[in-house]
Amino acid sequence: HLDRIAAVDKTVNAFLYVDTERALSAARAVDEDVAAGREPASPLAGVPLALKDVFVMEGAPTTCGSKILEGWSPPYDATVTRKLLEAGVVILGKTNMDEFAMGSSTENSAFGPSRNPWDLDRIPGGSGGGSSASLAAFEAPLAIGTDTGGSIRQPGSVTGTVGVKPTYGGVSRYGLVAFSSSLDQGGPCARTVLDAALLHEVIGGHDPLDSTSIDAPVPPVVAAARDGARGDLSGMRIGIVTEFQGDGYQAGVTAAFVQAVETLKGLGAEVVEVSCPHFDYALPAYYLIAPSEASSNLARFDAMRYGLRTGDDSANSAEQVMALTREAGFGAEVKRRIMIGTYALSSGYYDAYYGQAQKVRTLITQDFEKAFESVDVLISPTTPTTAFRIGERADDPMAMYLADLCTIPANLAGTPAMSVPAGLSDEDGLPVGLQVMAPALAEPRMYKVAAAFE
Ligand code: GLN
Repeated sequence: HLDRIAAVDKTVNAFLYVDTERALSAARAVDEDVAAGREPASPLAGVPLALKDVFVMEGAPTTCGSKILEGWSPPYDATVTRKLLEAGVVILGKTNMDEFAMGSSTENSAFGPSRNPWDLDRIPGGSGGGSSASLAAFEAPLAIGTDTGGSIRQPGSVTGTVGVKPTYGGVSRYGLVAFSSSLDQGGPCARTVLDAALLHEVIGGHDPLDSTSIDAPVPPVVAAARDGARGDLSGMRIGIVTEFQGDGYQAGVTAAFVQAVETLKGLGAEVVEVSCPHFDYALPAYYLIAPSEASSNLARFDAMRYGLRTGDDSANSAEQVMALTREAGFGAEVKRRIMIGTYALSSGYYDAYYGQAQKVRTLITQDFEKAFESVDVLISPTTPTTAFRIGERADDPMAMYLADLCTIPANLAGTPAMSVPAGLSDEDGLPVGLQVMAPALAEPRMYKVAAAFE
């Protein structure tokens, strides 16, 4: 994998940082265990992995795709990082991402976009485009992403790989640089459903260092993926989300989705239509809640504590140093979100915007609850289009935001959802993803359907 990275990553730009020495020494430690007859630490011991640059790892530079964190070296490991290391997983390095995970293409990275290995002129999705591109380019067999509004599933969809957003609280956020704390969720990226399940069981579980971590065992997703691989979905009821089809969906995506429904029926599932009327309001609600939380979370980048600091020569107050540093260190999309969020949280506007969005969030959660009274899982296309061209939406934030139309409801409700490859579009030959959504902590049925379908 290190050779492959050396050969292709100048072009793909999936990695922001590769630590060859550290990776090789972690791999040697696993070899030594095996040679000495010791039980490997986990089924994934010795398997290489690409870590999204939003998780900290002691001593490894972490930028979150931002200039403002350049030069910062974290003094500790995220819980996810620690669990990976303890499981003997070989961390190859840190992957490229939209700045602070804000975006759907990695074009918002301060270090240049990643490219989609299927077509190098196209985006690999975002914000975790680096992680998914590394899988599709065979630079790593496993990767970690984070999904606040779709950043694991949408990159998975457009790169023909698997991406899972676990139940909120299922994977610790300790050491995950916060974007929108009530939505952020780390999760596995892989090339197969079983690989994702194996990784899910390594990184999941309760963590006293994260106050929103669920105090329950990790759902048995590996057994579910193995069960699904037998290809029998009889007795399973699957709901197509009525609101996630029609206008705005590429014909090639719709055709692949229709084909996927036929495949699921062929596996014995009963497929029905289910309406979730408030899903239409998920996108606007998300674009108030996420920027609001981001404006608060990003206040910590103040030139005093981390990374970049400019203006010491010219400024005559601490505030000015902060302002100059934030002006130089943050990119346009991050500044846009901070402004929207600060506005939405201002007294006088709070009820009209943030409060209203929170009410919509509750209605979306209720739509899910109602739907899951009659079906086991819900399905939709993961994203309305295949990978778009680099630059195509860069100047149009609204067009960029639409990439997450189908993925955002699960973040707002805190429920699990995943994207599994659903073949290639007959329009452009690019990968299409099938999204499978389940109730909170019901990951096993989601993995079962995805593994049967795969
Ligand atoms: N694309 C969405 C956004 O820009 C979601 C990002 C994410 O899931 N981190 O906010």
